[in-house]
Amino acid sequence: MKLPPFDYACPGTLSEAVQLLAAGDGDAKVLAGGQSLVPMLAFRLLHPTQLVDLRKLTDLRGIRISDNGVTLGAMVRWREIEDDKRLATAHPLLKAAIAHVAHYQIRNRGTVGGSVAHADPAAEMPGIAVTCDAEIAVVGTSGQRVIKAADFFQGPLMTALTSDEIIVEVRLPAWPKARRWGFQEFARRRGDFAMAAAAVFYDQDASGKAANAHVGVIGVGDYPKRLPAVEAILNGQTVDEATIAKAEAATSSAVEPQDDIHASAAYRRALVGTMVERALKHAAA
Ligand SMILES: Cc1cc2nc3c(=O)[nH]c(=O)nc-3n(C[C@H](O)[C@H](O)[C@H](O)COP(=O)(O)OP(=O)(O)OC[C@H]3O[C@@H](n4cnc5c(N)ncnc54)[C@H](O)[C@@H]3O)c2cc1C
Repeated sequence: MKLPPFDYACPGTLSEAVQLLAAGDGDAKVLAGGQSLVPMLAFRLLHPTQLVDLRKLTDLRGIRISDNGVTLGAMVRWREIEDDKRLATAHPLLKAAIAHVAHYQIRNRGTVGGSVAHADPAAEMPGIAVTCDAEIAVVGTSGQRVIKAADFFQGPLMTALTSDEIIVEVRLPAWPKARRWGFQEFARRRGDFAMAAAAVFYDQDASGKAANAHVGVIGVGDYPKRLPAVEAILNGQTVDEATIAKAEAATSSAVEPQDDIHASAAYRRALVGTMVERALKHAAA
């Protein structure tokens, strides 16, 4: 189907972009890579009167790595994460997860900010943001605010963003060199959205026991979540076969997926347990 009619603007500054959004009074939408927005327009699921293209906002580009962690500009594209060799040590979990996003052409255009704002429950970037305690910096007419990823995602395609706010960057805390991690995803075809995925990491104390365990799941609820019950099973333990089996069982009990056209709830519950099991085995190895 053809897109509905809308006005188009391509501002040169962030403040101009915010003003254009605010003037739209809820009917204006930001355009980043267009890989989710344009299909939604084509299906007439959205009818914005104004699109505000972020392509000229160079401030929203670039991957910054420092002692404080990794900062991804909102307009960083999947391809840039894939190609950035520094991330292999600065944030290997992010790099591994983003390798599962979509297909070649979509990875050339889709952006970090677009994915986080779109908030698909099966998308990798929101899942990594939640698992890693990311902060999401946004700018609107009332100035800048920083939202914790855990508070940002509120439901399928629903976030804490107000209609005049633009995501400027996603900040991931520093990644210690010795951290153990794993990412596992099951999709029907390579590049499809996840049927279920798991992102895990933990540090180790002096005796080799797990500490600071983070277990995040994707595609098995309205938005990505950490599973404190599973993290509690790992913390203070050696991550061996027995602990991993307990974590797998606890994962399946902790999630509440829905039946949908792709899979039954029971299938996803079992699948995500297996994803956590495999991710932990990768981490432990
Ligand atoms: C066939 C196909 C397969 C895909 N598979 C996957 C997949 O496996 N995993 C995955 O994660 N994604 C997948 N995607 C989605 C893809 O990653 C998108 O690029 C991404 O979800 C949205 O990013 P975008 O830059 O294209 O945003 P756009 O489509 O431009 O925008 C999406 C939404 O975010 C808003 N927005 C964009 N940028 C900002 C910002 N900076 N601040 C505030 N709001 C903003 C827009 O207004 C819009 O509502 C797939 C897409 C397609 C078409």
